[in-house]
Amino acid sequence: MTRLQKHFDVIVIGAGPSGMMASLSASEKGASVLLLEKKERPGKKLLLTGHGRCNITNIRIPDNFRETYHENSRFITSSLYAFPPEEVREYFLSLGIPTHEEDDGRIFPDAQKAAAVCDALEKALVERGVVLLTDSPVTSIDKNDSAWSVKTGEETFESRAVILATGGKSFPHTGSEGDGYSLAGSVGHTVTELAPALAPILLSAFYDATMDSRCEDCGAEFTLAGITLPDVGSALLIDGKKKKTARGDLLFTHQGVSGPAAMTLSRELPPSKGKYAEGSVQFVIDMLPDIREEEVEQQLLSAMSENPNRYMKRLLCETFHLQEKAAILVLDGKTMDIRANEVTKETRKTIVRKLKASAFDVGKCTPMDIAYVTRGGVPVKEIDPKTMRSKIAEGLFFAGEVMDIDGISGGYNLQYAWESGRAAGFAAAEAALE
Ligand SMILES: Cc1cc2nc3c(=O)[nH]c(=O)nc-3n(C[C@H](O)[C@H](O)[C@H](O)COP(=O)(O)OP(=O)(O)OC[C@H]3O[C@@H](n4cnc5c(N)ncnc54)[C@H](O)[C@@H]3O)c2cc1C
Repeated sequence: MTRLQKHFDVIVIGAGPSGMMASLSASEKGASVLLLEKKERPGKKLLLTGHGRCNITNIRIPDNFRETYHENSRFITSSLYAFPPEEVREYFLSLGIPTHEEDDGRIFPDAQKAAAVCDALEKALVERGVVLLTDSPVTSIDKNDSAWSVKTGEETFESRAVILATGGKSFPHTGSEGDGYSLAGSVGHTVTELAPALAPILLSAFYDATMDSRCEDCGAEFTLAGITLPDVGSALLIDGKKKKTARGDLLFTHQGVSGPAAMTLSRELPPSKGKYAEGSVQFVIDMLPDIREEEVEQQLLSAMSENPNRYMKRLLCETFHLQEKAAILVLDGKTMDIRANEVTKETRKTIVRKLKASAFDVGKCTPMDIAYVTRGGVPVKEIDPKTMRSKIAEGLFFAGEVMDIDGISGGYNLQYAWESGRAAGFAAAEAALE
């Protein structure tokens, strides 16, 4: 049996997208690299991305990154311009992964498989001579003089530089269980409050009383789950005040709402251990975001007077180009089966209000386990944005989601994993070899 090498220029902890990119980049600069992964294989979360298709990056980032990375968007400027989406695409092309653009600037591999992306990275690690050890959870890191000592359950390794790429705390079965926060904490870093981001929003009830009774009336099984509302406006209300709005497709699930708009708003949910007080947190849908309320009323009035005998469901679908299921959300047991000439002024006003602002109570804060991304992490003020170097512990670097950076849905989080991994890999190699 060959003896395991113990000394490396750079040790990378975590073989997710950011850790693999950091390892490849450090080895490109001539450093010997050890990549330690706690799970039995690298990239377990990467394999799940984009519903298994991997939304690698987003070509629109340089234009809109200030909105897409929330409070800490300024921090990403240097790493983004050093490794922008076009260069990420070229990099993957060089690994044998051509990509294409889909809607909203989202970039996917032509192979349509996250596994192809992960395999290409793994192959490159082997070709570059990076030593990858799986089933190797790092339990501690310590700095002695100029060297770092990194312990796994069974082994101790040493290096001049360490890159922490342990991810966030969501989808823990993929290996991201928040270990990086305690490892960073053990050498003097702090960690901001952690919360779910990019998560579905859990609604307390899908039916209001009238909807239930309508279902009993018509005897039909009715569930909102599976309904998609394309390109609607959404808002999160906290104690009656608008906290944030978003626009995009909305998907009703068995537990609530999902899709890009709901996922974007989820990071604003107030933290809570149990249920929210009734009515305190609400999710509001605007089905006609491009038309002002008065105009909606005007259009509805004209359609009703031109088609007095038309059933309201059909009339709403025709007038506002709504899917039948979207109209069901607006109508209730009384209005579902009535004709336009039977609608009272009060009912008409209710229909308009529901078209512009259908409100649902949010039941509770989404559990971290089912969030796609973690909000919070090692604060960016403790990290140099160009090199991802720790300002607290010399020779320590960060890559990816372990930092307090989260992006909206659309390839933005992987883009950050690639660019921060690249910056950290280059800088760690330079520090180790100087
Ligand atoms: C279902 C799902 C779909 C997603 N889809 C997309 C998408 O299409 N596009 C997009 O941009 N983003 C997407 N994301 C977000 C994206 O996957 C993450 O932001 C990204 O994986 C973060 O990369 P990372 O390398 O920082 O961390 P991770 O991918 O979490 O990797 C961290 C690695 O570190 C390892 N590790 C942790 N602790 C230790 C330890 N103590 N010792 C050794 N190893 C350790 C873990 O096992 C893991 O392999 C999605 C997320 C989910 C959950």
